[in-house]
Amino acid sequence: MERSSHGHRHGQSGRGFRLTACCLLPHVFSVSLCLCGQFDFGMPAKQRELDLTEFPSGTVTEYTTLVCLACIFDIFTKQLNLAPRTAFSEIKRHTPTIEELTSRAAMRPYFDSEEKHPHCPYCGSAKRWLARFDTYCIEGGKTTDAARRALLRKLPKAEDQFVLQEKKSDSGAVFFEWLDTLGRSLDLNDEAWLIDASRMYLERREPKTNWDEVFDELRAVRRSSRLSEGWERDGARLFLAPGIYSEALLIQYLVSRSHAHGGLTLEGRLTLVELVRRLRYSGYLEQLGITERDPGEVFEKVVNHLAATHEWSRARVSRSVSTGSGSDRVASKKSKPKKAAAKKSAKKSSKKKASLPEPEVISTEPVKLHYLIDRRDFLEKAKSVYASYAG
Ligand SMILES: [Zn+2]
Repeated sequence: MERSSHGHRHGQSGRGFRLTACCLLPHVFSVSLCLCGQFDFGMPAKQRELDLTEFPSGTVTEYTTLVCLACIFDIFTKQLNLAPRTAFSEIKRHTPTIEELTSRAAMRPYFDSEEKHPHCPYCGSAKRWLARFDTYCIEGGKTTDAARRALLRKLPKAEDQFVLQEKKSDSGAVFFEWLDTLGRSLDLNDEAWLIDASRMYLERREPKTNWDEVFDELRAVRRSSRLSEGWERDGARLFLAPGIYSEALLIQYLVSRSHAHGGLTLEGRLTLVELVRRLRYSGYLEQLGITERDPGEVFEKVVNHLAATHEWSRARVSRSVSTGSGSDRVASKKSKPKKAAAKKSAKKSSKKKASLPEPEVISTEPVKLHYLIDRRDFLEKAKSVYASYAG
């Protein structure tokens, strides 16, 4: 079977991503992404876009996949021998599974394309036969619940134009997914990514702050020698308290370590040993109560710390908790989803210094993921295609 190159548009919507011009980035698995919305999949422009500005940055991940209606009609009419009318009413009810909508590699009749005028990779059909599903994965929690309810109230109800599905997950899976999306959205060859990554980390940590303002015309992010908490802007520079700065470095290291030997950070290219030394020097390890000396063990602990809760803004109060025990969070021992594990092995087939902690040692808290599936384009295209079938 002919395979297409898969290009999920897989970005976080909301205020966080403002990558300029076209952000189609070649990626390690030939997955490309576009956060700029300049690609026209045949949608009647902007009124389609959902307003997600009420969601804190990084809490909504958007997936786009295309489906070929010619292929679908074909299956129903030729293989299943249904009359076009019956096929049409079956098709109208169709909603792909979350897996089909969000997995990195699409299966027939779904496919991904970065082209402006995509064709079905299976049968060659042109744009008018292709429909687009947009899926928004909203992380449940205190910072998003109200915004989600408000958004759902505003959506049209008829014909299941929007379908909502829920999935149980945990903070560990959410964290690794967030890191992965972050990595895909940044151009690691352009140094500006370090500032972008710092920003996305801060947005997640402090969702209520207006980071647009803070990062406006910003030239550099530095470790503060004055502050013990928080951050301050001074001219074109943003100073972060050592603990926050350390976490920013850690995030950068995690995002880039598969891209380069060691990881790239605001402090240059760091090996794991160098990273851990900096975390220790800044007092971050002490803050978390991490006393281990072995860099691999320390790394495991700090990653666990970040994976232990998905609402970092709330986690700050109980900052001294490092193992997840004795806190009010619910510890569960769910393993990471298969997807994440598979991705990891695909990505890091080559040398890596320290592996991520084994799933069973990660303490996590449960997180509910709300998938909002936009079926509007699909319904419209199905109607017009059926009209040409019946006519
Ligand atoms: Zn097709």
